[in-house]
Amino acid sequence: MDCRAEFNAPSPSSFRSGGNIAAVLYPDCADKLADCVELLDREGIGYIIIGNCTNVLVNDAGIDGVVIRTNRIRGIVRDGNLIYSPCGQSISSLCAFAAESGLSGIEGLCSIPGTVGGGAAMNCGAFGRELCDVVEYADILTDGSIERFGADELDFSYRSSSVRDKGALVGLGLRLVYGDGFDIARDMKGYKLARQASQPQGASLGSVFKKADGISAGYYIDKAGLKGRRIGGAVISPKHANFIINEGGATSSDFLALANYARQEVDKKWGVKLQYEIDVI
Ligand SMILES: Cc1cc2nc3c(=O)[nH]c(=O)nc-3n(C[C@H](O)[C@H](O)[C@H](O)COP(=O)(O)OP(=O)(O)OC[C@H]3O[C@@H](n4cnc5c(N)ncnc54)[C@H](O)[C@@H]3O)c2cc1C
Repeated sequence: MDCRAEFNAPSPSSFRSGGNIAAVLYPDCADKLADCVELLDREGIGYIIIGNCTNVLVNDAGIDGVVIRTNRIRGIVRDGNLIYSPCGQSISSLCAFAAESGLSGIEGLCSIPGTVGGGAAMNCGAFGRELCDVVEYADILTDGSIERFGADELDFSYRSSSVRDKGALVGLGLRLVYGDGFDIARDMKGYKLARQASQPQGASLGSVFKKADGISAGYYIDKAGLKGRRIGGAVISPKHANFIINEGGATSSDFLALANYARQEVDKKWGVKLQYEIDVI
């Protein structure tokens, strides 16, 4: 199998924590992704698929197994207002392509740091829009072959979909609407600035918890007086209470201890049970 591999690789998590991974495979096209999956399935070896690892915390002990990283599987194709994006394309480059093509519908997503595969799995969203708003279909490697699923078969809901249950997402068909390239680019710039104004810099996984009954988790964490609370190198951002920042040397255990503390405090005060938006592997 012709696929780049790295052994005992450092954690790629954007929180910059976590132990090493025994083997990371980097397929650079859909066929190589299929080869990797086929080989691992044949050998009975489990694996985890990641894109940019911006929503995944890697545990401190690391992973004694295989991770397939898709972020080299790129190359957008356009047919009118339908864009086909491979899973490893970054969401920001997809949005830039849409703007250059005068296609509207994903402006609000332009600064999400993940890939299209991770975005579809998480049904990422921002500024009132979700990726599922524009998904027409997904090609998913399932039981050894690539199957095309319509958007209505992907069970999209708030920060969730059935993509992962079905297999490895290879590519996504997105139906956008024709618009004015200048307006689209201007709106994206506005969203970027709004994000810069409301979200902290620094290593993080974005929002730690999902909204609870439509109310942001950050609202509760802020009202509980937890902004600035620290465990080890992990800090609840004073700028955005739903972000935990690695201020240097934070471990994944620090992150989890702080997140669990916030969850307990919110539960104690309001009986609200916060659910993770992030994944822990
Ligand atoms: C600073 C910052 C800001 C953020 N802002 C937002 C935001 O505004 N809105 C938002 O929704 N999220 C946000 N996020 C979270 C994250 O960027 C998104 O969830 C993103 O879509 C994850 O993409 P990824 O490629 O990094 O996925 P990963 O973190 O690599 O993976 C996420 C999940 O998807 C699965 N997965 C990845 N690729 C595939 C594939 N090809 N097939 C099947 N399953 C796959 C993984 O197994 C994992 O369960 C933010 C994160 C950071 C660090």
